[in-house]
Amino acid sequence: MAYSEKTRNVFTGEIVAIKDKGLFKEKRFICSPQDAEITVEYPEGSSLSKVLNFCANNYLGLSSHPDVVKAAHEGLDARGYGMSSVRFICGTQDIHRELQDKVSKFLGMEDTLLFPSCMDANSGVFEAVLGQDDVIIADRLIHASLVDGIRLCSAEYDTFKHMNMKHLRKKLELHQDKRTRMVVTDGVFSMDGDLAPLDEMVALCNEYDAMLLVDESHASGFIGKTGRGTHEHFGVIDGVDIITTTFGKGLGGASGGCVSGRKEIVELCRQKARPYLFSNSLAPPIVNASIKVIDLISGSTERRDKLEWNTDYFRKGMEKAGLNIRSGETPIVPVMLYNAKLANDMARDMYAEGIYVIGFFFPVVPAGAARIRVQLSAAHEKEHLDKCVEAFRKVGEKYGILGLGKSEIIEKYGN
Ligand SMILES: *Cc1c(COP(=O)(O)O)cnc(C)c1O
Repeated sequence: MAYSEKTRNVFTGEIVAIKDKGLFKEKRFICSPQDAEITVEYPEGSSLSKVLNFCANNYLGLSSHPDVVKAAHEGLDARGYGMSSVRFICGTQDIHRELQDKVSKFLGMEDTLLFPSCMDANSGVFEAVLGQDDVIIADRLIHASLVDGIRLCSAEYDTFKHMNMKHLRKKLELHQDKRTRMVVTDGVFSMDGDLAPLDEMVALCNEYDAMLLVDESHASGFIGKTGRGTHEHFGVIDGVDIITTTFGKGLGGASGGCVSGRKEIVELCRQKARPYLFSNSLAPPIVNASIKVIDLISGSTERRDKLEWNTDYFRKGMEKAGLNIRSGETPIVPVMLYNAKLANDMARDMYAEGIYVIGFFFPVVPAGAARIRVQLSAAHEKEHLDKCVEAFRKVGEKYGILGLGKSEIIEKYGN
């Protein structure tokens, strides 16, 4: 027995310290399909309760959509359960090609390659394309999976201050001697819900001969007039060279990701990206259901329009109720609390009011920037939104934070 008591105590001590700070992440079990209303076992072992879900990435409400579920069944019947292979050996079916072609068309890109997840797409793309003569210049708040992917690549890594175009220009000037430059950003930043200024970024990339990679995981399907994403929102579809995105959020919510973009870049990923070469192929039911998702949202903007309405209605309601939300236009609505324990405590009280939300704190967000991140969905109805706002008002009142701004909340609770 090599796992000695002494070794065990090292880890128990760490867990106890997390609990003592009031930062322990408790288990919550959902015993129903993912939807606006869910059935949850929490705390563990207690009887089930029905609550409203306000923290899923189910932006378009497609996670349990009957047409999507049906397409998954059809994929299962027609192409089986799993591929038992990575893509390049014997894991590529005609439906993988069909989904790739549909994604290329939807995003306005030349070619697309599927990965088991967007985390894998981000892990693979940099190393496959860039080397030590190149440079990556990334926004300082990019998603963790991009950071991990960049770490696996031998290109020089530099950053610019969050959405600061002056700083990006400076960095682009600095790196004119490199073979190629790749600017990297999230389209929509997942914690703050802000949009990267892609119009300005495309202009800078043109001026300084740089490629632009945008992670659209929190944008694909609902940002922009027809839901193409942040590049559509800013009118620069042709200016973005590479998009990585997930099928695990707005686009159905199961799993899978892709690299979409210039055909040479996608080809190099097909030849060299390690998650494509060494991780199993996306399962047929998911592929078939994702095709259905792209068909649904290509044919109608009804869902993204409803999400936009819900977002606007909810943001106004929260502001009126006196909650300190980050302003913006995306369905990611951070309720800023700054103090980690306050975020955790308020989330627990929200649950007692029938609203499932979670407190976010370091390392998921920067230290001192704790919050409850609310995410809206096209699956929410007006009465759901009203109930959520009222619960925030009630819990906010209990903690005495209604109408308070940043400095006042920090003064009261610390951060
Ligand atoms: C969720 C997310 C990912 C990871 O997507 P998966 O398909 O779940 O691996 C990557 N990038 C961003 C910006 C994300 O929000």
